[in-house]
Amino acid sequence: MFFYNVLSGKTEKFKPTKGKLVRFYTCGPTVYDYAHVGNLRTFIFEDLLRRSLRHEGYKVFQVMNLTDVDDKIIKRAKAEGKTIKSIGSKYTSSFFADIKKLNIEKAEVYPKATAHIKEMLSLIAVLVKKNFAYKGKDNSIYFDISKFKNYGKLSRLSKRQIKVGATVLADEYNKVEAQDFVLWKAKKEGEPSWPSKFGAGRPGWHIECSAMSMKYLGKTFDIHTGAVDLIFPHHENEIAQSEAATGKKFSLVWLEGEHILINGEKMSKSLKNFFTLRDLEAKNLDPLSFRYLVLGTHYRKKLNFSWKSLISAENALNNLRVEVREIKARKDTAKADDKKLVSNYNNRFNLALGDDLNVPKALGILWEVVKDKKISNDGKLGLIYDFDGVFGLSLKSLRGNKSVVPPHVRKLVVARERLRTNKQFIQADALRKEIEKLGYKVEDKASGPLITPINNA
Ligand SMILES: [Zn+2]
Repeated sequence: MFFYNVLSGKTEKFKPTKGKLVRFYTCGPTVYDYAHVGNLRTFIFEDLLRRSLRHEGYKVFQVMNLTDVDDKIIKRAKAEGKTIKSIGSKYTSSFFADIKKLNIEKAEVYPKATAHIKEMLSLIAVLVKKNFAYKGKDNSIYFDISKFKNYGKLSRLSKRQIKVGATVLADEYNKVEAQDFVLWKAKKEGEPSWPSKFGAGRPGWHIECSAMSMKYLGKTFDIHTGAVDLIFPHHENEIAQSEAATGKKFSLVWLEGEHILINGEKMSKSLKNFFTLRDLEAKNLDPLSFRYLVLGTHYRKKLNFSWKSLISAENALNNLRVEVREIKARKDTAKADDKKLVSNYNNRFNLALGDDLNVPKALGILWEVVKDKKISNDGKLGLIYDFDGVFGLSLKSLRGNKSVVPPHVRKLVVARERLRTNKQFIQADALRKEIEKLGYKVEDKASGPLITPINNA
């Protein structure tokens, strides 16, 4: 397999350090709110990576942390008059409920930050001892970026952007000028704290991931993933802390997933466009449609999310389910070319995955299989189920297929759309009644017709 390694800036042949075992770390959720579609896209990308590696014959050991103490969760707890523990447990449950609905496989370990304070403190102690960290005027412990000569190697900061001697206490910052960042924040009134030899306080966000990844995966591991907005400062700081402490290379490969855009715009609090899975479900949309939408865009490209694109994804997924159900129902004997065709499809599928996880291309190959007239239905089904081990659309059980619209109904809906475009409203209305007789309701949304079974509506 070949991956685009953000660290080297090149596409490289992937070679794990321990034979067929791939150890990888994924920055997990900060459990202070529901995950939004941008977060969910990243988790789906990581799930596709995990499933693809396994499909290519690797064993996978994945660690995803749960950030249950940081600036954001403390702020939220204060605002709601609750403890970080109660906020954390509420949104940890919602996170696991979301990933289940999206068919995201569970990682091997989900370490919580608050359960690894001891590991973080020992890592900080090593950094202080090796002179990479110092106590600031505010009694917090900071990492001295000028001491780590490779600082900026992931995000490609040139030397002159580094502001020597300046410190930043906040977990999240993205200034042009890199600064000494916090490892241990001195205790503040009204914030949770732990005792330590540096004085009571709490960990900075960045040190959490270094401590937890190395605890479960070792000093050097194979892949670190996240979203592009984490490259600086979070991932850059993880590298600095870890490599300064161990003197060894931290993660060999860095894969960073791109952003999601909402109707062409960046997600932002002011635009109120932070959609969650709850918003999708409120519109009666299947969470797996969102998964299907994500499959259609390469992880290094921006994905434009709109209700229209999601409804199209739902229609495409439903069409796929209809096709699979029909293939399942039709029994036939093996055809002469089966073996050759199956192996040809397999090769192309593996090549697509190995080409920096080209899932959209792989999805196109699945559709070719579905439409192929030369291959037997048994041959097709074998391929479909095998490929779906990567896509995770539950094509075997056809989970969520209650909203499948049969082709004859879909044809009427298309015909009605044509009439409406031509302003032949009387005829269009007659078709709508016909569709209703068949048990389906058509609603005209700005994005196009939404078809729902009347029983379930
Ligand atoms: Zn992280």
